[in-house]
Amino acid sequence: MQYIGRFAPSPSGPLHFGSLIAATASYLCAKSVQGQWLLRIEDVDKFRIKKNSIDSIISTLENYGYQWDGKILYQSQRTEAYQHALDSLNTLTYPCTCTRKFLQQKSPASTYGYIYTGFCREQISNPNAAQFAIRLRTNNKTIYFNDALQGSYCQDLETEVGDFILKRSDKMFSYQLAVVVDDEYQKISEVVRGSDLLDNTPRQLYLQQCLGYHHPTYLHFPIATTENGKKLSKQNHSPEITTHHKRQTILQALNFLGQHPPSLDHFSSLEDLWDWAIKNWNRNKIPAQMTLSEYYPHLS
Ligand code: GLU
Ligand code: ZN
Repeated sequence: MQYIGRFAPSPSGPLHFGSLIAATASYLCAKSVQGQWLLRIEDVDKFRIKKNSIDSIISTLENYGYQWDGKILYQSQRTEAYQHALDSLNTLTYPCTCTRKFLQQKSPASTYGYIYTGFCREQISNPNAAQFAIRLRTNNKTIYFNDALQGSYCQDLETEVGDFILKRSDKMFSYQLAVVVDDEYQKISEVVRGSDLLDNTPRQLYLQQCLGYHHPTYLHFPIATTENGKKLSKQNHSPEITTHHKRQTILQALNFLGQHPPSLDHFSSLEDLWDWAIKNWNRNKIPAQMTLSEYYPHLS
């Protein structure tokens, strides 16, 4: 089977260092095995798109010398495919009229915000509501999978997440549905992304099961966290990527991914650096975890 990987940035701002790591890891996993690397712009949520960020992401990637295969896929143009997938789920889905306020008050909290305990499963909670979301029944499913880097992972969907949204009340399709439909459509064989998305994976595997899709394999690389496990936010340590110090920036990304490249003066051009990176890529060197002090020793 041919290796097909992808990079799927959300255009909610320009590329930052975290997204460059995602681009680099997924790129090298694909290119080091002569696979394809596809680019997908995840602009499914039109309320989160920041002006000009699509152009800026694409031109930064070009500038840095990433070469994607085929045409860029835009989620904003995939509405029909998402609706078709949703319709095919039939009685596995149901409308939900619960308001955010109601859910905040009535739902047990979890790392995902709240756990939806199925208020509208049998009967919608608010029959007069003008708008409704569509949720997927989790049907007491426990999902196990083996991440290439994080090892085995298990999540009980019903008690840990609850029935989750596929289409929001504002008619936008959810990330979970869009990403699953597109990973199938683009025949992605492996998803390489940050470990902040690890706990989304069981929902995506379950949805693939419900839709009769293939399952890609998954590799979640570490997201730098603070000593107490908090994720680094865009605001604190992930500056926007500029095009001034391209080789240095890629070297930093390679270091973050445990590849230990030679120093800058070893490379006379960006092409040289990419050649080295593709030839020497070793996914087994990626650390499974990363704390702030390892990456920003000067801060601690
Ligand atoms: N669009 C998501 C993000 O930028 C990534 C989705 C994915 O890789 O599955 O965080
Ligand atoms: Zn509801």
